[in-house]
Amino acid sequence: MVRYQSSPLNEQGSDCSGFFALSSRVKSGYERLVDPARLKRATRRVLSRTLWATLLIVACTQRKKPPAPETTPTAAVFSVGNASNGASPPSGASSRPTSATAPGLTASPTSPPSLLRLAGAQQPAVKHVVLLSVDGLAPRFLEMLLEQGKAPHFAALQKQAAWTHNARTDKTYTITLPNHTSMVTGLPVSPTRKHGVHFAHGWTENTDPEPRDNLHRYRVPAGSYTASMFDVAHDNGLRTAMFASKTKFSLYAQTYNDAGGPDTVGPDNGRQKIDTVVIDVTPSTMVDSFIAQLQSNPPALSFVHFNQPDGTGHGVGWGSPAYLTAVQQMDALLGKIIAALQTPQFSGNAALIVTADHGGVELHHGDQSDMRNFQIPFYVWAPGVAPGDAYRVFKNRFSPGNENPSYDEEKQPLRNGDAGNIAMALLGLGTIPGSVIHSAGLQLE
Ligand SMILES: [Zn+2]
Repeated sequence: MVRYQSSPLNEQGSDCSGFFALSSRVKSGYERLVDPARLKRATRRVLSRTLWATLLIVACTQRKKPPAPETTPTAAVFSVGNASNGASPPSGASSRPTSATAPGLTASPTSPPSLLRLAGAQQPAVKHVVLLSVDGLAPRFLEMLLEQGKAPHFAALQKQAAWTHNARTDKTYTITLPNHTSMVTGLPVSPTRKHGVHFAHGWTENTDPEPRDNLHRYRVPAGSYTASMFDVAHDNGLRTAMFASKTKFSLYAQTYNDAGGPDTVGPDNGRQKIDTVVIDVTPSTMVDSFIAQLQSNPPALSFVHFNQPDGTGHGVGWGSPAYLTAVQQMDALLGKIIAALQTPQFSGNAALIVTADHGGVELHHGDQSDMRNFQIPFYVWAPGVAPGDAYRVFKNRFSPGNENPSYDEEKQPLRNGDAGNIAMALLGLGTIPGSVIHSAGLQLE
């Protein structure tokens, strides 16, 4: 089933969708101007597009597939390891290799069966994981609101989640699409040497992709299929969804539905790796759609993106009263998701990861050397994951102080690029094939 919905152009509710669309235009124009190397490509893109008004289109592709088989519960507390630290391979679904290759592309380098080993053995992996990214959420402003009691749902999450406000973006880019691509692939944006080979997802653009473009074309090493958390979950028979509020997230539908690889894991679940795609530039209605999906046919893996407070930051400034109001609005939407996950059907079998793509300062966030841009929040709320400081809960992640370490430094911080593989671990699945961010693993307790 293909469903198209439109957000009313004249809607001026609390999310100010018209304003955000305008600020998005300003932002896009700015980002083109500041990088002349991309000007030619961006101009071609603009000419090829229809009016910006069509950005307020909701595209929803929903495809039915047979109910997912129950996965074998494996674990509880999860720890991650590689061979060198003595971690044993996971069992059940975690041990099944996942790979997906599109025509003309070579297979991804084989990755270990599981980055995160679910240990402890007794507690089952969850059946539903929600990965939420709050675009442009700078921890220093969230903390201001928390101190004033104005972010009650983040406050509630802090009591139950492993969390830090000193997580990191990618090393080389602090803009939206490159960082979200790291989240879903576990790959750095720019080539990073690992085991003698350079790896990257290579997507550095931050505007709407060309209609036929996809991530696979930019992968380093060239010719590799860029596998994602959607591939792993879907190939293992689980339902997947993306609910986003910027049109540029069509990149992931183009990459993982239009150009998805074959399923070589168990029964063939097809090449379309994201079962439900909803892009709605009004976060409040997008969340309503997501909640409805959770209640009617909950995906195992949901990737949810709020376009705020980024839009307001670009319009009137990070930390401005309007920006703080936008953060409060996102807190309220977070509350809706938490409430949905606390209903009986999700009791004990759902997890929520909350992070951001970047922070921001004044009207921008493009300077990757500025801590105000690369410092982000990271929350993991899940059965078996102890609440408290994430740098205590995750034993082999290290608070980076005021730095953003290179990927080759021994002590790595939590990064938004960890999110996809943490989601896989929580679902009891193996590592995203080819992912290299923290291939040394993630260890709990
Ligand atoms: Zn932005």
